[in-house]
Amino acid sequence: MKLKKVSDKKRILVLAGDGIGPEITKEALKVLEAVSQKSKISFEISEGLLGGIAIDKTADPLPPETIAKLDKVDAVLLAAIGGPKWENLPQDQKPEKGLLRLRKELEAFANLRPAKVFNCLADSSTLKREVIEGIDLLVVRELTGGIYFGSPRGKIADKTYVNTDVYSEAEIKRIIVCACEQAMRRSKKLCSVDKANVLEVSQFWRDVTIETVKSQFPEIELSHLYIDNAAMQLIRNPRQFDVLVSSNLFGDILSDEAAMLTGSIGLLPSASLGDGSKAGLYEPVHGSAPDIAGQGKANPIAMILSLAMLLESSLNLPKEAKTIVQAVEQALDEGCRTADIATVGEKVLTTAQMGDIIYKKVNA
Ligand code: NAD
Repeated sequence: MKLKKVSDKKRILVLAGDGIGPEITKEALKVLEAVSQKSKISFEISEGLLGGIAIDKTADPLPPETIAKLDKVDAVLLAAIGGPKWENLPQDQKPEKGLLRLRKELEAFANLRPAKVFNCLADSSTLKREVIEGIDLLVVRELTGGIYFGSPRGKIADKTYVNTDVYSEAEIKRIIVCACEQAMRRSKKLCSVDKANVLEVSQFWRDVTIETVKSQFPEIELSHLYIDNAAMQLIRNPRQFDVLVSSNLFGDILSDEAAMLTGSIGLLPSASLGDGSKAGLYEPVHGSAPDIAGQGKANPIAMILSLAMLLESSLNLPKEAKTIVQAVEQALDEGCRTADIATVGEKVLTTAQMGDIIYKKVNA
C-alpha cells in the first residue's frame, strides 16, 4: 500500500455535519488540542460542509468547495449527517448522497470497524459478561465491489430480479493487503470469511487470499470460515478473533453484528481507507441522532476514538492515538457516563463534561 506523504503540518479536514455532529466534533477538537499541547505537534484544521447543512447553505450535499479541500489534507474527520428535515428530498439530493459521493471521491475501498469491549461496560451488552469481556477485534470490509455494485443488476424479466457478486483479483488482493497490514500491527492473526463451499466468487476470493498472504505476509496465521459459521462463532466465542476480512455483503452484516457485541453505538469508531494516495476518512459508526441533538446528551467517545484511529492510521502517530484510547478507558473505568451508557442511579455527564474529562487526561 502506498502511503500518502504526510506533510509536516498534519492537515485534517473536519466535517461536523448535522444533528449531534457539531457537539461531538467540538469535543474531539478539544482532545486534539490536548494532543497538540502535550506532543508539540501542530495540526492544521480546516472545516467543510457535508450533508444537510451543506444542502441548506449550497443546495448540494457535497459542494465543490468541500471536494476541493480533499486533496489538500491528510485525513478527513466526519461526525454524522442527515435528519428528518431532509428526509423527503428526492433520493439523489439527500444528505446521505453526499456521504456516498465523499467515499467515492476518496476511493475508499476498505472499511475498518473495530469492536472493543470496555470491561467496565461489559454488562450493557445483551450477551453474558464472560462471553464478551476482553473482546478487541477488527472487521475489515471490502467497500466498493461485490454484489452491491456488480452487473447485471435489477429487473431481468417479469417478476424476476438479479444482482451479481463479482470480484477481480486486483480488488481482492488490495483488501487482503490492507487487512494483513492491520493484522501485522496486532496479533498477526487473520480470518477470511467467505462462502467458498457454494459460490465460485468466494472460492476465487479464498484462492487469492491464500496466495497473497503466502507471498506477501508469510508471518500471518491465516484461517478461513464460511459466513454462516462466522456469524455463529462471533456470538459463541468472539474472543477467538482478532482481524476478520470479508467481501462487501458479508462484511456489512458481520461488522454490525460485531458492533452489537459491545453494547453501545456511542462508543464505536470506524475508518474508510483507500490505497493511501488519498486522505483516509474517519467517522463514528452512529448517525446524527436527531432525537438528542442540541441537548448535550450525545456520547462524544465514538468521535474521539475516530480521531485516535485517524492519528494512528493516517498521520502515523500511534503513541498519541494510544494516549487518547487510554484516556477514554480511564474515564470509563472511573465511572464517567453519558446517558446512553449510564445505568439507573449513575451520575450522567453531558457531552461537554465527558469531553473535558478526556481532554484533561490526555493533557495530564
Ligand atoms: P443514529 O445512529 O443516529 O441513532 C440511533 C439511536 O442511537 C438514537 O436513539 C440515538 O439517540 C442513539 N445515538 C446515536 N449516536 C449516539 C451518541 N453518540 N450518543 C448517544 N446516543 C446516540 O441512527 P438513526 O436514528 O437511524 O439515524 C438518524 C439520522 O442519521 C438519519 O438521518 C440517518 O440517515 C443518519 N445516519 C447517518 C450516518 C452517517 O453519518 N454515517 C450513519 C447512520 C445514520
